[in-house]
Amino acid sequence: MTPVTRADLESIPTYVPGRSYPGAIKLASNETTQGPLPGVAQAIADAAAIANRYPDNTSAALIRALSDSLGVPTENIATGCGSVALCQELVQATCNEGDEVIYAWRSFEAYPVVTKVAGAVSVAVPLTAEHGHDLDAMLAAITDRTRLIFVCNPNNPTGTALGREELERFLDAVPARVVVALDEAYFEYNRSGVDGIDLARTRRNVVVLRTFSKAYGLAALRVGYAVADPAIITALAKVHITFSVNAVAQSAAIACLGARDELLHRTHDVVAERDRVRDALRAAGYDVPETQANFVWLPLADRSAAYGEASAEAGVLLRPYGVDGVRITIGDPHENDAFLAFATSAAAQELAGVPAESTTA
Ligand SMILES: *Cc1c(COP(=O)(O)O)cnc(C)c1O
Repeated sequence: MTPVTRADLESIPTYVPGRSYPGAIKLASNETTQGPLPGVAQAIADAAAIANRYPDNTSAALIRALSDSLGVPTENIATGCGSVALCQELVQATCNEGDEVIYAWRSFEAYPVVTKVAGAVSVAVPLTAEHGHDLDAMLAAITDRTRLIFVCNPNNPTGTALGREELERFLDAVPARVVVALDEAYFEYNRSGVDGIDLARTRRNVVVLRTFSKAYGLAALRVGYAVADPAIITALAKVHITFSVNAVAQSAAIACLGARDELLHRTHDVVAERDRVRDALRAAGYDVPETQANFVWLPLADRSAAYGEASAEAGVLLRPYGVDGVRITIGDPHENDAFLAFATSAAAQELAGVPAESTTA
């Protein structure tokens, strides 16, 4: 007899990570290209040397460092095993079986997974024709069962960002009993000037999620944080998996905050490359939505899978999403050039359905 598990497990979508293989250029997971700074590597080595000891379950030193860096009291901050764990903990902390979680679609792949795992119900609201959040439709989707709304800004995988006014109007229209998670995993690349932490200061139902995985370059170590009213922070602590933010991650994150200026300076290079890649793609006839993240989106619909395959054969790994589009992470200039060489080839343009007369070659 097979062991009994939940009957609904089969309906939980499996998270699909970006592909990776030796020798290929990986533009599939929104990572930074550089390894840890020397000071961060030292902090990692020092923490690894005492790996026999349990980590501080309250992340006290990291939360103090975040408090100083963000100008937010410590009681407004929680850490998580990556911000994806905080997404899951938010659903667990707000939803009973059958309660509803609203998010835009397509957006971050983890939202449907964490919602189902918690026994809650996904309410996926289609993006606008411009590939951004349809905030009016999301408001209209709120019911008595709505407990949580994810707003991914900038949106993964489309890169689109919300303006401050439309976001504020939305937040003010959401009932105060409904928690809104502003997922700002790509905040450091957003040049639109919208800062969720400013918006959360005066709104007790808004929680901002950020991560050390992207601009801070610690994707392998798994550490993210939430900024919110103490009531939400306390609720997150209730469902937190004990010791899940490990000591190496905590030390590395503190060292990254110490080197913040240098790490954030690197985002300027990524932003410049992002704009260069966007412009080159547009010049070659591609439809490329405006992006505020470290990636660009090609809405290739049912051509996405074949485009991703062809690119992989050309040695560049991208991230195709079903029949919606393909996301391309901005890497180092030579990596972006390798992608652009593929994208502007006649074969790729044909696969993408890009009009031949737009070809600049
Ligand atoms: C990458 C990402 C995260 C979280 O990453 P972690 O590595 O778990 O911190 C969260 N939200 C979005 C939208 C992301 O793209």
